[in-house]
Amino acid sequence: MKTKQIFEAYNRQGERKFDTLRFCPRCGARCDLISSGRQSRLECPRCRFILYQNPSPGVVALIVDDGMVLLGKRAKNVFLGGKWSLPGGFIELDEDFLSAAHREILEETGLSIRIISVIGVVSNFLSPELHTLVIVLLAEKTGGTLRPGDDMDRLEWFPLSGSYPPMAFEADKHIIDRYHKTKMAGIPVDHRFASF
Ligand SMILES: [Zn+2]
Repeated sequence: MKTKQIFEAYNRQGERKFDTLRFCPRCGARCDLISSGRQSRLECPRCRFILYQNPSPGVVALIVDDGMVLLGKRAKNVFLGGKWSLPGGFIELDEDFLSAAHREILEETGLSIRIISVIGVVSNFLSPELHTLVIVLLAEKTGGTLRPGDDMDRLEWFPLSGSYPPMAFEADKHIIDRYHKTKMAGIPVDHRFASF
């Protein structure tokens, strides 16, 4: 099965709207919209602050156990609430991606994990306001008690072979399916410099 790494939940070639953060976070002046080529940026005419917008980096874990994968039903108040996804979250500014994964998985599932490898990296164009770049990690449970955190209503093990519940992200479906069909080993992770 062919790998897929870029996922579009909306047409990202369309017009972007810049209706948030119109005031400079540094001096409070009203920002101008500056366009060059396909990119538009908000720039402060007073202090020249430029608001660079980039995809948000995140991590998700494919936690596997005896042919099963752990999925969470997303809480109502989070993005795409009510649908299911692999557990994970955003990387904090001072965090390495491995420590972020350990923290997010503990917060969202109550489990401690061993991260085995990197099995994918995906770009998700989810909405005009939210583009993510997600590192996908293969992991196994080492301890803890399954307990959903604030962002999850429920946690459940599902067979890797399917069928899955209604999924929030196309990328998650592809990742699980691809892992099931190829049993890919991925790239080993190096924990030596991680801070957790
Ligand atoms: Zn300014």
